[in-house]
Amino acid sequence: MKEPKRIELPREVWIGPRVIARITDVCKRLCPGKHALIIADATTSKLVGAGVQRSLNRAGFEAECSIVNQADMATVAKVRKLVKDKVNFLLGVGGGTCIDVAKLASFKEGKPFISVPTAASHDGIASSRASIKGGRKPTSIETHAPIAIVADTLIIKRAPHRLLAAGCGDLVANFTAVRDWDLAHRLFGEPYSEHATALSLLGSQIVMENAELIKKHTEESVRKVVKALISSSVAMGIAGSSRPASGAEHLFSHALDQLNPKPALHGEQCGVGAVMMAYLHGEDWQASERRSAR
Ligand SMILES: [Zn+2]
Repeated sequence: MKEPKRIELPREVWIGPRVIARITDVCKRLCPGKHALIIADATTSKLVGAGVQRSLNRAGFEAECSIVNQADMATVAKVRKLVKDKVNFLLGVGGGTCIDVAKLASFKEGKPFISVPTAASHDGIASSRASIKGGRKPTSIETHAPIAIVADTLIIKRAPHRLLAAGCGDLVANFTAVRDWDLAHRLFGEPYSEHATALSLLGSQIVMENAELIKKHTEESVRKVVKALISSSVAMGIAGSSRPASGAEHLFSHALDQLNPKPALHGEQCGVGAVMMAYLHGEDWQASERRSAR
């Protein structure tokens, strides 16, 4: 008989223009207590964090903000000290760094956290895995899924186009990740989920089919990418591992991170890695079928 399976998913996902205005209602519904800690960086605290803090305080919460510069264990330890007995829930406001720190610190302290992405550059905005740097190599740690995601597409649209393109790269990587997973299943009997595979592939198909629309960098472009990133995270939640969205193309990206003190963006490296791995799998790595079908 198969082992029972636990799937952890966010309770609420808000995507669209000006959904940031819903944040206090989301906190009231889902979060215990009044004490909130916002994790932001120097830029996102000014652009979004300060506004969120004001709205929460006006609504009767006691919100504080902690500025972080990197997602390493020392920063997570500092945030955990702030959280300890006083803070009831956390909000990660920013890109990968802020969300990863909020994710791991809240998990270690047994508190819920809300993901408020300001860019759509990788699928960590909604997943339960935190990428922590500072060791010999960056490590991906299994934590918990955000209790809610509040992805304001007008805020995310303000981020440079390069970040949105990197998010597409991280999604294209799903295409080769599921092929590696299939191999691991067939050769080594690794547990495999066709539901997770289908959902993961849907994310990469949507960005490939909408490349021209996404290139225009409109609110609709952002919405398409954010939804695909969230479905990619849900695929990982169903699988109970990062397999549906991380294969050899991610190992290629991790190797670049170790070799280069200033590597390119995670999604950019994974996207290039996916082209190489598609070639090695004997797949249509130039996506020529897709182009000739148009
Ligand atoms: Zn990734």
